[in-house]
Amino acid sequence: MQKRILIVEDEASIREMVAFALRKADMAVAQAADAREALLAIADAPPDLILLDWMLPGMSGLELARRLRQEAASAEVPIIMLTARGEEIDRVNGLEAGVDDYVVKPFSTRELVARIRAVLRRSQGDDGTGSIEIGGLRIDAPAQRVYAGDELVSIGPTEYRLLHFFMTHTERVYSRAQLLDHVWGGNVYVEERTVDVHVRRLRKTLEPYGLERLLQTVRGTGYRLSVKA
Ligand code: CA
Repeated sequence: MQKRILIVEDEASIREMVAFALRKADMAVAQAADAREALLAIADAPPDLILLDWMLPGMSGLELARRLRQEAASAEVPIIMLTARGEEIDRVNGLEAGVDDYVVKPFSTRELVARIRAVLRRSQGDDGTGSIEIGGLRIDAPAQRVYAGDELVSIGPTEYRLLHFFMTHTERVYSRAQLLDHVWGGNVYVEERTVDVHVRRLRKTLEPYGLERLLQTVRGTGYRLSVKA
C-alpha cells in the first residue's frame, strides 16, 4: 500500500524537489507551507509520516512537532525533521518533542527516501498480521497476547500497552514524559515515576523468560527496547 507523506516546508523549491522524489519512490505526497496548512492537511487525512522543516514562518517546526504529539490524530505519526546545516540542532528538545529522526540540508533525495523507509519500518514494525517478534518475545496485537517463545506470558493491561509501544518503537530512547504521552495519553495527569513503576513490573513479567534485558534503562534519559546489549 502507498504510504502518505506530508511535507511541511516553506521553501517551494525544496518542497517540489522532495515531492517529486517521493512520488518517484511510489509514495503519495501532501504539501504544506506552514504550520497552519499542515494542521489542516492532517485534519483532512492523517499521513503515515511527516517531513517537518525546523525553520518555518510563524509556528516553528519544533513547536508544531510538540503540538502534533499532543493531538490524538497525530500523536503516533512519525516525524522526520529537516534542519539546515549550521543550524543549532537541539536534539534534547527534539527528543522531548517526539521527533523520530533528523535529516540535515542539503540532503540527497535518495538518502531522504532511505531514512523515510527506515522510520516507517521502525514505527510500523510488524509483518502485516499484527504480530511482532523481537529477541524471542512476540506480541500478537489483534489478540492482545504476548509470547516468550511458545509460552503465553501473563501480563497486566498497562504493561501490555507499554510493551506494545516499545515493540513498535524499538532501538530508540524515550523519556518518561514521552512514554506518558504515548502510552498513557497526554491529557491524563500521571506522575513520571508511574512510568518507572510499570517498567519495573514489565521487567518482572519478562524475568522468568530471561527477556527483561530487552528493556534497558538509559541513564539520565529514559528507557529503550533493544536487542543490542
Ligand atoms: Ca524553512
